[in-house]
Amino acid sequence: MALAAITSGVLRDRRPGRLEREMGSTAGEANTEPAAVPPTAAANGSVIKLEAVRKSFGDNLVLDGIDLDVTSGEVLVVIGPSGSGKSTLLRCVNLLEPLDSGRIWFEGNEITRKGTDVSNVRQRIGMVFQQFNLFPHLTVLNNLTIAARRIRKLSRSEAEKRAHILLEQVGVEHKADQHPHQLSGGQQQRVAIARALMMEPHVMLFDEVTSALDPELVGEVLVVMRDLANLGMTMMVVTHEMQFAREVGDRVIFMDEGRIVERGAPADILDRPQQERTRRFLRRSLQLAHSLEELTITEGGVAE
Ligand code: ADP
Ligand code: MG
Repeated sequence: MALAAITSGVLRDRRPGRLEREMGSTAGEANTEPAAVPPTAAANGSVIKLEAVRKSFGDNLVLDGIDLDVTSGEVLVVIGPSGSGKSTLLRCVNLLEPLDSGRIWFEGNEITRKGTDVSNVRQRIGMVFQQFNLFPHLTVLNNLTIAARRIRKLSRSEAEKRAHILLEQVGVEHKADQHPHQLSGGQQQRVAIARALMMEPHVMLFDEVTSALDPELVGEVLVVMRDLANLGMTMMVVTHEMQFAREVGDRVIFMDEGRIVERGAPADILDRPQQERTRRFLRRSLQLAHSLEELTITEGGVAE
């Protein structure tokens, strides 16, 4: 399965991809695009930049001064215990949560300042969640085309042409006319990724997208994400899949209690963590994996 066609505005060099050549759509559209995303904005390589980002829910401080740079084409993997603020971090980047303080830039523009075209930012920053959030009453094809038609004002035929190409790339073209409940979880999640790609995002955020899947379906989704990374898509990936972090990640950050405790190359963070908290987290994940192998469920419950 390859994603060679999904190159719209996602490659480091920003050349129009095969998809755009096939559709012949982007050139005309680019002229009508709001000025919020100037073509030179990515020149310094920083696509997403966070500075001193703080966020609380009530008196629960969830992000406690996050500084972060994600460069063009980079795959940043975010790991950390439940409740450490990983989802909130992604949601802030996508402007789904307002900040208490701090600033976020996207392609050189501060998007946390007043007057930002939120809809335009969200088109450029695609997000995929643990729960697939597909519209149950719409076919797979219509799940993909609805936003492209309403928000990007593509014609039905343009939208459907792009949708079919993307569905083929993520390996679910044969399900185009079915409804989400007729698909496996892995297929639904691949549809959700294709749907996000309909908007030609420059960045993709993935929040534990394989956590709700049966184990045998995890791989097919990770492969789609790996292919997307190989095409040069800039990605922030919250995951517990350490193998993915190692093989696909350019950089790993470990979060705990709303802070980035440690950051670095995947091998450094996963094999040679400097901080005790990182070590404890990784040890616990590993221990669990090992000890579960030794556990068996008996009629009386779990026994070793
Ligand atoms: P993670 O994704 O690392 O598990 P989250 O970002 O989801 O962590 O949550 C961090 C903390 O913020 C948790 O204590 C969670 O209960 C709290 N939280 C997240 N979203 C909300 C919300 N909308 N309202 C109140 N508290 C929230
Ligand atoms: Mg989360």
